[in-house]
Amino acid sequence: MATIPKLAPCPGCGETDGLDVYKYESGWRYVECDLCWYHGPGEGSIREAVKSHNDRVADLAVRRAALAAEYGPFVRHTQPRVRRAS
Ligand SMILES: [Zn+2]
Repeated sequence: MATIPKLAPCPGCGETDGLDVYKYESGWRYVECDLCWYHGPGEGSIREAVKSHNDRVADLAVRRAALAAEYGPFVRHTQPRVRRAS
């Protein structure tokens, strides 16, 4: 069995806790975040869904870094979700 790559942190909330790979009724797989409802790209396999998600996160990181270099750091305007006390 092919190993599944580790999931990169959610591009929406930065967490890894809420991430999991789900399956559409059509059979397509995608990464979803339970904390902020981010949806990753749909792919034909769990491995591809994780890979596409990780590629997207890496691509966003590069683009955010380029924008931050030009305009200064990105400031998020939404409130972070309150985490349950454990
Ligand atoms: Zn998230």
